[in-house]
Amino acid sequence: MGYVNQFRIKPGSKISLGKIDADYHGAYDDEESSIPELKKYSKRLSELQALMYAQNKHSLLIVLQAMDAGGKDGTIRHVMEALNPQGCSVVGFKVPTAEELAHDYLWRIHKMTPRKGQITVFNRSHYEDVLVVRVHNLVSKEVWSKRYADINAFERGLANSGTTIVKFFLHIDKEEQLRRFRDRLEEPDKQWKIRDADYEEREYWDDYQQAYVDAISKCSFNYAPWFVIPANRKWFRNLAISQILVETMEDWKMNYPEPTVDLNLIKQKYHAEVAEEMGIPAEKPMVEEEQPKEKKGKKKGKKKKKKR
Ligand code: AMP
Ligand code: MG
Repeated sequence: MGYVNQFRIKPGSKISLGKIDADYHGAYDDEESSIPELKKYSKRLSELQALMYAQNKHSLLIVLQAMDAGGKDGTIRHVMEALNPQGCSVVGFKVPTAEELAHDYLWRIHKMTPRKGQITVFNRSHYEDVLVVRVHNLVSKEVWSKRYADINAFERGLANSGTTIVKFFLHIDKEEQLRRFRDRLEEPDKQWKIRDADYEEREYWDDYQQAYVDAISKCSFNYAPWFVIPANRKWFRNLAISQILVETMEDWKMNYPEPTVDLNLIKQKYHAEVAEEMGIPAEKPMVEEEQPKEKKGKKKGKKKKKKR
């Protein structure tokens, strides 16, 4: 364990993305050497989600943000693979619709937050409203600069209501982004992703990085921490995120809820052979069952009369 501490942005600290090595891959030489750990965390994640679903007490909101080709889709595929689809959902936030723009910017966000027992992954989020919106002057500075405080208050409210929020910035460098764009040219299953706009956005790389620095520095708290994940290596990114999710959920110290029924009684009533095998005495339920039997007999009598 340890990536929570290593990659969590401490409240109030001012980060410098240039100083965080996007190539970092911990103690592992290559993907192969990381696979046993990754499998371990995926398995544990799956167990923890089953507990969470059964307990129906905690909600987990995972926010994913990254530059284009930063690996949000790949991360989602990886994390979701370990989860039971019944207990989780993914929400992608695109350019707001007219209806969404007619409301405050958190309107579309709030209604998609996870209910108890559920995990929701945000593929982009309310942070776009201090990222793309800021970089492209979609609203004035006077408007976007107030949003950090709004976002903090919003997230605190969610946290106070039992939602755990973890926010991941998948940190790749500019060269890696270009490599990934270039790879898309050669991979037929990725060519559909290629857009002129992605290349044009590279012009704004520094502005985006600055906007990320501010969003991450101003909005990382213990109740809703930001993690900056070195993400040039996809396998390391997956490993780090899996471990952080496991560590986060382990902290809840969950147990399966106590059964709401008397298991012995259920065995005696419906699984006589199990009760016998386990040597469960039959006294208590016998008394309870004898009474209804009498009633049954009476009813039968009535029925018979009716038939005649
Ligand atoms: P993608 O995630 O590649 O499907 O792209 C979604 C696009 O929606 C990106 O270009 C985002 O910058 C854009 N987007 C998401 N949220 C907002 C927002 N609040 N305002 C403007 N553009 C947004
Ligand atoms: Mg994109």
